[in-house]
Amino acid sequence: MPDPVLIVGAGFSGAVLARQLAELADVKSIVIDARDHIAGNCHTERDAETGIMVHTFGPHIFHTDRADVWAYVNRFSEFRPFVNRVKATTDRGVFSLPVNLHTINQFFGTSMSPAEAREFIQEKADTSIAEPANFEEQALKFIGRELYEAFFYGYTKKQWGCDPTELPAAILSRLPVRFSYDDNYYNSPFQGMPAEGYTALIAKILDHPNIEVRLNTRYEHAMAEQFGHVFYTGPLDEYFAHRLGRLSYRTVFWEKKKSEGDFQGVAVMNYPDPKLPYTRIHEHKHFTPWEKHDSTLAFVEYSKETGPDDIPYYPKRLAADKELLASYATLANAEQKVSFLGRLATYRYMDMHQVIGEAIDFADAWLAAKSSGAKTPTFPAKAAL
Ligand code: UDP
Repeated sequence: MPDPVLIVGAGFSGAVLARQLAELADVKSIVIDARDHIAGNCHTERDAETGIMVHTFGPHIFHTDRADVWAYVNRFSEFRPFVNRVKATTDRGVFSLPVNLHTINQFFGTSMSPAEAREFIQEKADTSIAEPANFEEQALKFIGRELYEAFFYGYTKKQWGCDPTELPAAILSRLPVRFSYDDNYYNSPFQGMPAEGYTALIAKILDHPNIEVRLNTRYEHAMAEQFGHVFYTGPLDEYFAHRLGRLSYRTVFWEKKKSEGDFQGVAVMNYPDPKLPYTRIHEHKHFTPWEKHDSTLAFVEYSKETGPDDIPYYPKRLAADKELLASYATLANAEQKVSFLGRLATYRYMDMHQVIGEAIDFADAWLAAKSSGAKTPTFPAKAAL
């Protein structure tokens, strides 16, 4: 059996990697996490008073187009049907998101067919933009100024704390624009919610005789000496004690509202109006439509810059961040027996399904390199660092 490895972080990256190494090559791992719970920011917990399953660090909705990733998560938890149908409240009323035929017809007061709407939006779109260089250009190229200003400009300024022209176009490419009445927030063919939440799912992944989990345990470099390899899934700049500076992240925080009945009639309501201080409200009992709860919990979400003691959520990836990232990647590549995996360690805006897919692929790549005697990879291939 190979030497035991140390995996830093018990979120999806660390848990899936530990499980794959355990099953594929009988590798023993110690998985440590600084927090007092597993599952990282996917952590879910039933509220003691209401029994509602709360997504402690914000809403997580599982969706993927990879059949192997869907099969993988279904091995460890029953998944219940859940389709995210987001709404947006504006000063002109409530609209359907992502932008679809209903949004377009409601917004412009029309009754267009799919073909008519496509032509109509094409006329509004800025065709002079060939390669969108930022978020705003991406929006103007695909939906035109009116829809951009109504649904994206204010929300994005509040969410990211900067002008949309400073942000990468890729942030907007996450969202579809549809010329049909399909109002599913995601295009993915597989979508659902783990019946007992994400923490129960990740606990099952970690439940293997080769895996030992140690909570309340912060990584220290001296620990590496006792292991054949270290897989680090925490923030990349933190690994290097921020010695070159801090990568910028947005953090989010919530005001919790408990009431009886139904607060807003939907799981996620967005508020794109720049005059309001919050971005969205999520009502968690709607994430488990198969459960019945008389009371309800709504979380009003605000965003701010991440201070040294805040949890990093959204990597901003501004131009200065990308330069710093390249410098940290150089340091990381010089490490002899450390690999960096996942959203924080590769500083990318990743969803759960991408993290899981990459951990599965990375375990394969790392084991293949190990068995052929080649240098093991520092980053996943797709991270392009
Ligand atoms: N966005 C927006 N208006 C909306 C929803 C999203 O401007 O009503 C933009 C915003 O910049 C956001 C990005 O699209 O950060 C990605 O949205 P998504 O819903 O994927 O964000 P997440 O659920 O990951 O916070």
